[in-house]
Amino acid sequence: MTAPPPAGPPVALTIAGSDSGGGAGLQADLRTFTTCGVHGCVAVTAVTVQNSLGVTGFVAIPPSTVADQIRAVATDIGVAAAKTGMLASTAIICAVAGVCDEVGIGASVPLVVDPVAASLHGDPLLADDALDALRSELLPRATLVTPNLDEVRLLVGLDVSSRADQYTAAKELHALGSQWVLVKGGHLRADPQERNPQCLDLLYDGSDFTAFTSPRSATPHTHGSGDTLSAAIACALARGSTMPEAVGYGKRYIEQAVAHAYPLGAGVGPVSPFWRLPPP
Ligand code: PLP
Repeated sequence: MTAPPPAGPPVALTIAGSDSGGGAGLQADLRTFTTCGVHGCVAVTAVTVQNSLGVTGFVAIPPSTVADQIRAVATDIGVAAAKTGMLASTAIICAVAGVCDEVGIGASVPLVVDPVAASLHGDPLLADDALDALRSELLPRATLVTPNLDEVRLLVGLDVSSRADQYTAAKELHALGSQWVLVKGGHLRADPQERNPQCLDLLYDGSDFTAFTSPRSATPHTHGSGDTLSAAIACALARGSTMPEAVGYGKRYIEQAVAHAYPLGAGVGPVSPFWRLPPP
């Protein structure tokens, strides 16, 4: 079991890959944790070689070292919530699932699974043969899974092209075993009839749907948006929020982070945590 809660800020753990460009991955998670007042711990799963133009390679950390990092943090420091990002391989997913059972992550400690499969440039971050392990080993242990529409297609084979499809996708994903599902609709093409185009993110717990809408943003700089949303949700869960409250908190955080996104390098810039900080 994880150690008792500390007297300081709540503690969250990210199990994720490093982005050398600093926009996504564990770097996005840690800056989100910090600006949400949460102490961040890290189990590194992979080191990517990456800039604003894409990912040109990565090296995966040995699965036993990933598990050891999680065990070391959970048994000494204790974690109030955990999240996963890039997991790279079947062996890492299985190692994460095993140690999560050992320390109570996914049981007494909420686990947010961001089922990262590729970068927004299409560069693979998960081996093709690891989707089965993601479905069978991780989703049944997840408190929440947060797929975008590309990840929905990979996980349940459904091509979502309408809001009605999002409801079907939520049901099919929930059947894979996570307690809650958040189907993110940001990648759905805007309806040309709509005056104020809105994105719909749909939360489902197996019986009730909660719809979260937000204005569609025009910025091209959205690198790290999925990581940032799931990290902010994990922070609210670490503070003891209910799932609908935590998703509402995460949505408010990411809306501001996207509104303050900035260019970086010659490609796609990151969403920004700086909106939470006083001006320098
Ligand atoms: N690199 C790492 C290490 C990531 O974990 C992720 C997403 O989780 C990405 C890149 C991709 O981020 P994006 O899809 O925003 O480019």
